Amino acid sequence: MLFNMRGEATDEEINHIVARIKECGYEAHLIRGKERTVIGVVGNSGRHRSELEALSSAPGVEDIVKISHPFKLSARSMRPEGSQIDLGRGVIVGGKEVIVAAGPCAVESREQIHDVAARVSKAGAKLLRGGAFKPRTSPYSFQGMGEDGLKLLREAADKNDLLVVTEVMDPSQIEVMLPYVDVMQVGARNMQNYHLLRALGETQKAVLLKRGMSATIEELLLSAEYIMAGGNYKVILCERGIRTFDTYLRNTLDIAAIPVIKGLSHLPIFADPSHGTGRRDKVAPMARAAVAAGADGLIIEVHPDPERALSDGVQSLYPDQFAHLMNEIRAIAPAVGRTIAETRFPVEASR
Ligand code: PEP
Ligand code: MN
Repeated sequence: MLFNMRGEATDEEINHIVARIKECGYEAHLIRGKERTVIGVVGNSGRHRSELEALSSAPGVEDIVKISHPFKLSARSMRPEGSQIDLGRGVIVGGKEVIVAAGPCAVESREQIHDVAARVSKAGAKLLRGGAFKPRTSPYSFQGMGEDGLKLLREAADKNDLLVVTEVMDPSQIEVMLPYVDVMQVGARNMQNYHLLRALGETQKAVLLKRGMSATIEELLLSAEYIMAGGNYKVILCERGIRTFDTYLRNTLDIAAIPVIKGLSHLPIFADPSHGTGRRDKVAPMARAAVAAGADGLIIEVHPDPERALSDGVQSLYPDQFAHLMNEIRAIAPAVGRTIAETRFPVEASR
């Protein structure tokens, strides 16, 4: 259930509704939109539902809407105009600009991450990606550089005016990661790690929540709900391909999930055509399709020397291919009312 407050509702009227919701045993989540405030009612221990319904005629209340989906705080009706997530340094996800994150699958060395950061920044990326803690299918594969990798990511990102997105695998890593990271990525394998989701809900750090490889759209939104229920509303969803009967590609990138999620939820949605296909030559067509379908952002693997990459080299673009792809989506974005950042000169030269 949610309360749509009138545009002119006073703080006193809003606080009264919040207090009554709590008295009835539910949690109240306040979302202040541009035009009005919406109060979401969630929880499973509340009673006195009829008392809540009687509040529809309380001062300041426009109407009460029952949300029929099992996901509530992420439902589109909570914020019909869509959420915008401010990551800092002027980067806003969910606005007109399609935001691009790019970088290697894993941070491997100082030289590698600085090289790729300079090149993706120049091509117009706004975030640097790179795993420091890697969730590998095999325990014998490269597991990442850990905190040293985080330091290198931050250093390379700052030098090239980029923000950092990297994966968190366990609640115990959150504290060490917070100072280095702008967006915490929850990987496909952890989409339903509810301890991790709840722990991220207690922070105010933006989260990039990837769809599990066998997860439905509803399950993805319920995972977002775990983070939001803790009070962290900065959730960015990510379609990264699902398992289907087809084995030709690593996964099947569910492009249709983008408009479906746009209809169901106010949260921004990214696409990951790298893990979505697993093959370098299929990354650009799927990235173009995702932008055309309304994605709010892309996350793309780029490596200075993919042949020697310690993980996911097969699907990593060469930096020149990435720059070319950025030019292509620069042409597509305006057709669907969006923009892509311009190419920029190396940051040092422009200062
Ligand atoms: C990654 O981004 O490198 C990654 C492991 O992604 P996913 O969780 O989607 O497999
Ligand atoms: Mn990868």
